[in-house]
Amino acid sequence: MATKLEYIWLDGYKPTQSLRSKTKIEKDFSGKLEDCPLWSFDGSSTEQAPGGSSDCVLKPVFICPDPQRKDAYLVMCEVLDSKGQPHESNGRAHIMDDDNDFWFGFEQEYFLWDPKTDKPLGFPAGGYPGPQGPYYCSVGANNAYGREIVEEHLDVCLDAGLNVEGINAEVAAGQWEFQIFAKGAKEAGDQIWVARYLLERIGESYGVSINWHCKPLGTLDWNGSGMHANFSNTTLRTANSKETFTAICEAFRPAVAECVEVYGAHNELRLTGKHETASITDFSYGVSDRGASIRIPLYTVDHNWSGYLEDRRPNSAADPYKVAAVIIKTVKSAKV
Ligand code: ADP
Ligand code: MN
Ligand code: MN
Ligand code: MN
Repeated sequence: MATKLEYIWLDGYKPTQSLRSKTKIEKDFSGKLEDCPLWSFDGSSTEQAPGGSSDCVLKPVFICPDPQRKDAYLVMCEVLDSKGQPHESNGRAHIMDDDNDFWFGFEQEYFLWDPKTDKPLGFPAGGYPGPQGPYYCSVGANNAYGREIVEEHLDVCLDAGLNVEGINAEVAAGQWEFQIFAKGAKEAGDQIWVARYLLERIGESYGVSINWHCKPLGTLDWNGSGMHANFSNTTLRTANSKETFTAICEAFRPAVAECVEVYGAHNELRLTGKHETASITDFSYGVSDRGASIRIPLYTVDHNWSGYLEDRRPNSAADPYKVAAVIIKTVKSAKV
């Protein structure tokens, strides 16, 4: 039997990498990752190699069923250079100290975008809908735009075996969120990237694009898009101690520049101190504080200071591999 393997990778564009993919047909494929062969592509077309020496290598690292195609799988890949070394664009290979004791819940926000009007779904041509307020977690054709896309994406992700934990309409018109929970930086990153891929592909069939920019409506009074990173390790989950949470939050203070570096492009446009964000130049943390850099969820306080933290600074276009990696590194630097 012929099986379709969709090899997915991240290109070399800066400052934000995009998804690329192509289909490989394999005969009598086992369904196992170890039976996915290495493959190659033209890196000169993805900003990953010069034309004179254009081959880059695709190394499969994650596989799941492709529910939208017959006899098919999605295969997330790392990019290697022509010598077989991790390409500099390969954030996954550069995760230094992955650790499955670190659990991540990413809240991926995005806009459903109408390429014809170059505005979010729900924005009338040449104008604006009513101001923010009624759209968050809304129902009804006045306020919720594009639900059929969001629902189809949810079902496809679940059928693929991705660990989606929920979805909701967001604060701006045409803005939505899904949450994915996974253990370890690589696993969490793989799942987010495959979920992003599926959303992009589903959008195609509706003629709707996905806008991952963190502030696509600029300085107007509309929320930007984040990718809040909720995280915990055994220390946080079993702390029973406010001091432990304080020490771990404080470990993020000297790491602000290192974190912000990988928290997504153009984040200065989003982290303004307005629209439920902290200023990009400040560092703060607080219980239930959605204007802080790091929020200590009420859950954590209610569980006698055991639980998790939410770094609210990563944006919708950030690379989850890099976000998770810097969080692991920073938490491990804490004096607890
Ligand atoms: P918000 O109130 O910020 O919108 P959400 O419900 O959208 O919160 O997202 C919360 C996320 O926190 C979920 O993805 C969930 O998986 C994650 N989460 C919950 N507990 C933990 C934990 N112990 N470690 C890591 N992530 C967690
Ligand atoms: Mn959320
Ligand atoms: Mn949200
Ligand atoms: Mn959140």
